[in-house]
Parts: sequence; C-alpha cells; structure tokens
Amino acid sequence: MSDLFDLIIIGAGPGGYVAAIKAAQLGLKVACVEKRSTLGGTCLNVGCIPSKALLQSSEMYEETLLHAAEHGIKVSKVSLDLKTMLNRKNEVVAGLTKGIEGLLKKNKVEWLKGEATITAKDEVTIGKTAYKTKNILIATGSEVMNLPGITIDEEKIVSSTGALDLTEVPEKMIIIGGGVIGLELGSVWRRLGAQVEVIEYLDRILPGMDAEIAKQFQRILEKQGISFKLSAKVTAAKKTGKGVELSVEPAAGGAAEKLKADVVLVAVGRKPYTANLGLEKLGIALDNRGRIPVDKHFATSIPGIYAVGDVIAGPMLAHKAEEEGIAAVEIIAGQAGHINYDAIPGVIYTWPEVASVGKTEEELKAAGIAYNIGKFPFLANSRGRASGQTDGFVKILADSKTDRVYGVHIIGPDAGTLIAEAVLALEYGASSEDIARTCHAHPTLSEAVKEAALATFAKAIHM
Ligand SMILES: Cc1cc2nc3c(=O)[nH]c(=O)nc-3n(C[C@H](O)[C@H](O)[C@H](O)COP(=O)(O)OP(=O)(O)OC[C@H]3O[C@@H](n4cnc5c(N)ncnc54)[C@H](O)[C@@H]3O)c2cc1C
Repeated sequence: MSDLFDLIIIGAGPGGYVAAIKAAQLGLKVACVEKRSTLGGTCLNVGCIPSKALLQSSEMYEETLLHAAEHGIKVSKVSLDLKTMLNRKNEVVAGLTKGIEGLLKKNKVEWLKGEATITAKDEVTIGKTAYKTKNILIATGSEVMNLPGITIDEEKIVSSTGALDLTEVPEKMIIIGGGVIGLELGSVWRRLGAQVEVIEYLDRILPGMDAEIAKQFQRILEKQGISFKLSAKVTAAKKTGKGVELSVEPAAGGAAEKLKADVVLVAVGRKPYTANLGLEKLGIALDNRGRIPVDKHFATSIPGIYAVGDVIAGPMLAHKAEEEGIAAVEIIAGQAGHINYDAIPGVIYTWPEVASVGKTEEELKAAGIAYNIGKFPFLANSRGRASGQTDGFVKILADSKTDRVYGVHIIGPDAGTLIAEAVLALEYGASSEDIARTCHAHPTLSEAVKEAALATFAKAIHM
C-alpha cells in the first residue's frame, strides 16, 4: 500500500491529464493512471493530432498540385511520399505525447502505468498494487463503435485508427458514416488520390449541424470529388481477394446492392469506455448509451468519485473534456467550477473548415424563438480574395428583439480559428451589434464575421 493521494485520475487523455495538472497547481497530491504506453489519450495518439497532421500534409500536397500555378509558382514532378508523410505525423504525435509526460513531471503529478480498477470508493488498484485516495476522477474516454455484421481488421476494414496509417493510397475508399471523423479522413485520402464515397444512413450529413451549412458543405465536398449515398445502410461487409464487398440497402428498406472498395472506413461514432473499471461492483449504473451519469458537479452516485470527458454525456470533443477536467478538480479542491455548455464550439478541419457554436436555425425554430439572420460570403472578403480562399460564408443568428447572439456558423477558410470570437461573444452574452462595432483588423478573414454581424441587425458594408 502506498501513500494516500488527494486525487487519482484514471485516463490521461485531454480530460484526465489537464485535470491532473490543474489539480497539482491547486495543491493536491495527484496521480494519473494510463494504460497506454504514451500519454494524451485518444486525442493525441489516434485522434485530433494525427488526423490534423495528415489533413495539413494532404492539403499542402493538393494545394501544390492544383493551385501553386495560379500564384505563378511553377513546380514540376510533384509526387507523394506517403511514408514520409506518415512518419511526420508519427513524429508530431511522439513530440506532443512526450511533452505531456514533461508537463506531468514538472507539476509533480505521478504517472501510474497500467490499467486501473476501482476496488473501493477510496481505492484504485493497478495489477497487484492498491492505492488509497480521497477522490477518484474517471476520464477513461471512448472507443470506436462497431457496426453489426462488420468486423474491423484495421487493414481493409478500418476504424479511424487504421485510416491514420494506411500504407498505400486506396484506389476506392468507402466511408460508412457522414460525420466529422469520416469527412476529415475521407478528405485526407481523396486529396492523396483515392476515389471516396460516403454512405450515410440519414438523409443528410452531419446531423445536428445547421442544415444550410451542412448542405453547402456537402456541395463543396462533391465538387472536390467525394460522392455521397444518403438514406442508405450497410448491412454486411465481405472481404474479397483485393478489397471489400459491401451490401447496401435503402434506409427505408428495399433491394440491396453490392459496392466494392479497396478500403472501407467504419466511422459511425464512438462509445464511452468503461471496461474493467469495476463500476458494477461499486454500484455505478451506466445510462442507456453506456455513459457514466454525473450531476452538474461531475459527481457520480458514489461520493468522492467523479467523471469527465467522453465517458459522460455531451459532445465527444477534446476541449469539452479539458474544460470538464478543470471544473471537476476545482470543485474537488473546494472552488467553484462551471461550464457553459451553450458555448462549446465544434470544428471540422476539412477544406474549407466548418465551425459552429450555439444554436442552429433548426433549434431556434423548434424552440419558437424569433431570430434575425446575418450572412456574409468570403467571396466578398478582401483577404479571402487575396489568398484565393473564397468558398463559404459566415452566418449569425441573433434574437429578433434583444439582438443577443444565439449561434454562429461558419463555413470557410480558417473557420476553426474565426469561431473563437463567436465563442467569446456567446460567453459574454454579446449582441450582433457588439461584434459589428468591435474594430477588426483589415484585411483579415475575421472581417467576414464583423460584416455578418452588421448584416444581422443592420446592413453589411461590402455587399
Ligand atoms: C480520428 C479522431 C479525430 C478527432 N479529432 C478531434 C478534434 O479535432 N477535436 C476535438 O475536440 N476532438 C477530436 N476527437 C475527439 C477527442 O479525441 C476526444 O473527445 C477526446 O480525446 C476525449 O478525451 P478524454 O480525456 O475524455 O478521453 P480519451 O482521450 O479517450 O482518453 C482516455 C484515456 O484513458 C485511458 N484508459 C481507459 N481506461 C483506463 C483504465 N481502466 N486504466 C488506465 N487508463 C485507462 C485510455 O487508454 C485513454 O488514453 C477526435 C477523435 C478521433 C477518433
């Protein structure tokens, strides 16, 4: 039996490792348990970071192939060295996961290596060693969701993890699921030369996203060469000599067709990961989607045991997990921790990027809230024109009486960075006039946000 900890955190993803650092900064004696050989969780090892590294590299490749000449840059014999691209991605991941190790050391967080089981409400066991603690924070994240009838082998039928490591560009790639992960990784492989088809059960891509933005996004992706089969379900996958044969039926029922691909990416979502945690013995029951129920202080039904991140309800996003980790340890340390779930941005790092925060038009309609809309296209933004990045627009939704901003949705260049201003606006309860009357540097893409804000309560200048 080792010393008593104030807090043991299980899982070193963005929820867990950020909570560990914050808890140490608040003066708690903290340990963080991780069963992977590297820190950083799904996000750093097989999620956000490797996917963004490949998105960046593949974007550069396509930009050089298709657009360098427009700028008067002559490049001959552009070719793909996939091995180097994958190695670079691995180096980025290795550098960042090592960096987390350094941060834990610097903050005197003890990294306990191995798989943790909660053996009592004040005890975590790893292998044969039991560690006593005053509090436990579960941050065990999520894992890939499977489809019935389809076995992932990470070679021909891959999850997002396998799709980050294909050693050859497939001639034809079918992606099951028109969500964020499928569209990001589909973009990577299309840019590198694959013919990509997305099969989606619903009649639209990206459910939950503002419908107008999703429609525009699909159009742009189609123009880039990705094809979509909506309202269709994959019922079986059979490996053939060369690739995979899928059985696909209309979602509403009807005759099945066979589709062939070299690689199939199953991207139908992720599910909370709670295996071997010992929750059943403790008496912590999961909800109907396998998540750990918590109250607004992140407390489970057992006093002293808390949970954050992908393993609880809410969007499965790294920054949501981080904010929850911080708020939870502030609460454990006796401070006030709080999260505004109405101001959590979501970003898709394709080209163009898509970013949104707050309510969609559909949500406002359903809630019976009267709203004004302001839009501004990047085609009319001088910086967009100068850099040749004119796809997309900014859309702002604000209360028709008070002008308070309810939602901001951007499809366009650097949307993921531009959304930060909108998040701040929502956090501080700003009106569209507040945004419009804030001075924005010229020439920047952010002027499109200002102009859309102007258009929400008055008129845009450059339209
Ligand atoms: C391909 C892909 C791309 C993504 N891109 C983005 C993006 O761009 N932006 C974004 O915000 N989100 C993105 N995500 C989602 C993001 O990765 C997750 O939301 C985030 O990692 C959740 O953090 P977490 O701390 O809750 O869990 P995780 O990051 O899943 O970490 C949990 C950790 O707990 C460990 N663990 C589990 N059980 C135990 C145990 N019993 N003992 C010890 N250790 C244990 C696991 O090994 C894991 O390392 C992406 C995900 C994927 C798959």
